[in-house]
This record gives sequence, C-alpha cells and structure tokens, in this order.
Amino acid sequence: MILRPFKYVECGSVDEATTTLKQYGDGARIIAGGTALVPMMKHRLLRPEVLVSVIQVPGLGDIAAGPDGGLRLGALATHWEISRSPLVKRESPLLAYACGRVASPTVRSMATLGGNLCYGESASDPSPALLALRARVRVVGSGGERTLPLTEFFTGFYETGLAEDEVLTAVEVPPLAPGARWRYLKWVPRAQEDKALVGLAAVLVLDGRHCRMARLGLGGVAASPVVLRRTEQSLEGRELDERTSAEAGEVAAAEVEPMEDLQGSADYRRDMLRVWVRRVVADLATGGGER
Ligand SMILES: Cc1cc2nc3c(=O)[nH]c(=O)nc-3n(C[C@H](O)[C@H](O)[C@H](O)COP(=O)(O)OP(=O)(O)OC[C@H]3O[C@@H](n4cnc5c(N)ncnc54)[C@H](O)[C@@H]3O)c2cc1C
Repeated sequence: MILRPFKYVECGSVDEATTTLKQYGDGARIIAGGTALVPMMKHRLLRPEVLVSVIQVPGLGDIAAGPDGGLRLGALATHWEISRSPLVKRESPLLAYACGRVASPTVRSMATLGGNLCYGESASDPSPALLALRARVRVVGSGGERTLPLTEFFTGFYETGLAEDEVLTAVEVPPLAPGARWRYLKWVPRAQEDKALVGLAAVLVLDGRHCRMARLGLGGVAASPVVLRRTEQSLEGRELDERTSAEAGEVAAAEVEPMEDLQGSADYRRDMLRVWVRRVVADLATGGGER
C-alpha cells in the first residue's frame, strides 16, 4: 500500500519534539524505528499530518548503569542493542533475554524500546519483563518532565498514559534483587518470530522453597500488558511445590480477562496462561535455571 503524503520534522532535541507535538496536536506522531507506525500508516489505521523524528536527538539511545544500580535505557535503544549489551545481560538478564525474543534480527535492529512501550501493544515482549522488574518510564512534555511506574503506563487496548505532547525519553530498571530467579516464557502459535499469544515474565526470590517475593508480568492475553498482582500475592510467603504452583495457575487464569482474536480464543489464552504460570513457578522453585 502507498503511504499518503505527510510532513517530516527532524528534531535535534526533546524540547523541539515536544514543541512540534504541541503545535500540531492530534495530527502529529513521534517516529522512532517506524516498525509499528509505518505499517499502521500503510494500512490507513493512522493518517498523521506530521511525523516528528527523534532519531537524531543526542543521547536518547544510550544504555547506561542507573544512579542507584540497575539500568537507564534511552528510549531509542533498539531491542538488538539491549539484547546484546554486556551491561544489560549482567544487570538485567531477563530484559536482555525478552528483548532478544522480539520478532526477527531485522525488526530487532530497527525497533526501539521506547517505540515498543508507546505502541502499547499487549503482545509486547519487553513489557512483561519490565513490569516484572517494576521499571519506571521518564517522559517529557511541554509541562515538564515526570516519571511514572510502568504499572501505570498501559491504560487499555493500544493505549498509554502519554499526553499528546509527551515524549518517552528513558526507561529506568531497578536492580534485580540478590539471588532472584527469573524466566520469560513466550508462547507463539506458529513461528519463533511471531508475536506472543502468551508472554509471561517471572522474577522470584526464594529461601529454599519459601517464596519471599514474586513479580509476574504478562503480555498477549489481556488488552494491554499487565501485572498479575493477585497471583503474586498468592505466592508470597508460601512454600512452593506442585500444589502451590497449580493454585497460582488457577489464580492467574481467574485474574485476567483474555482477549479473543484470529490468533486464539479467550479460553485458549486462559488455558495457556494457567499452564504457563504453573510451569514457571514449579520450574523456578526447583532451581530450573535462568531463561
Ligand atoms: C514483522 C513485525 C514483527 C513484530 N514482532 C514483535 C515481537 O515479536 N515482539 C514485540 O514486542 N514487538 C513486535 N513487533 C512490534 C514492533 O516491532 C515494536 O512495537 C517496536 O518496538 C516499535 O518500536 P519503533 O521504534 O519501531 O516505534 P515506531 O513504529 O516508530 O512508533 C510506535 C509508536 O510509538 C510512538 N513512539 C515511538 N517512540 C516514542 C517516544 N520516544 N515517545 C513517544 N512516543 C513514541 C509512535 O508515535 C508510534 O505511535 C513486531 C513488528 C513487526 C513489524
């Protein structure tokens, strides 16, 4: 399909981008890697009058250690860069792994982390990992800068808490708790590079079999990426065994309202979620490695 004409503004700073967004309002869109935006424009799902590019903004793609440990990832860091970064692999191997599961090498090398989060798609791979890690996002708009927990960022089906004139500038990832075990399981119906029908990220801190902390992020099932809070609570303070793993699967299946689409029915998603939660908890409880 042929793209309709649009104006292209190359910004040299975040301030210039927010000013341009404010000037054009609903008619303007940020473009980063373009892997989500351009197909939407080709399919006439979006018809922006102006594309506001932030690709040339200095420092917006930096991958660095956070001031108090953890990581600070610039919005323009690509999934390829994040998945290959020695710093990310050391500080947040769950995130490196989840970013390495995005699509194909070609898409991973263009698609940015900021674009992924702002797209707000449920079947995102980094989102469940970042939710389980309790990451925060930094956004800048004409009214100034603010930080919000990722748990409050996704507001609905392809919807986020970004205002029209705001740019996501960075993602802050807290340090992984000492001794934490992690896992990202992605269920794809056909090929490895498909989007997740169920994407489950888990971080557990255990004393032997006793669960001190459970963090679970989910993609592909609900209308947006979500935290499985009730399931987390059902695990914390308990001894993890086959029974508690199975119970957690039941809590998760009851906690989420699954979507239904051509990829799979709501019942199928719910069944897969039940199985995935049971499996990931049982696996991590028996020291089933980090993957
Ligand atoms: C073939 C294919 C397969 C895919 N498979 C997967 C997959 O397996 N897993 C997965 O997670 N994703 C997948 N995706 C989705 C896509 O790659 C991601 O959502 C991508 O990360 C979007 O990033 P981008 O830089 O290309 O964003 P863009 O396409 O440039 O932008 C996406 C949206 O975010 C907004 N935006 C971008 N950056 C900012 C910012 N800094 N501040 C404010 N708004 C911003 C744009 O205005 C637009 O609305 C796939 C896409 C394709 C085309």
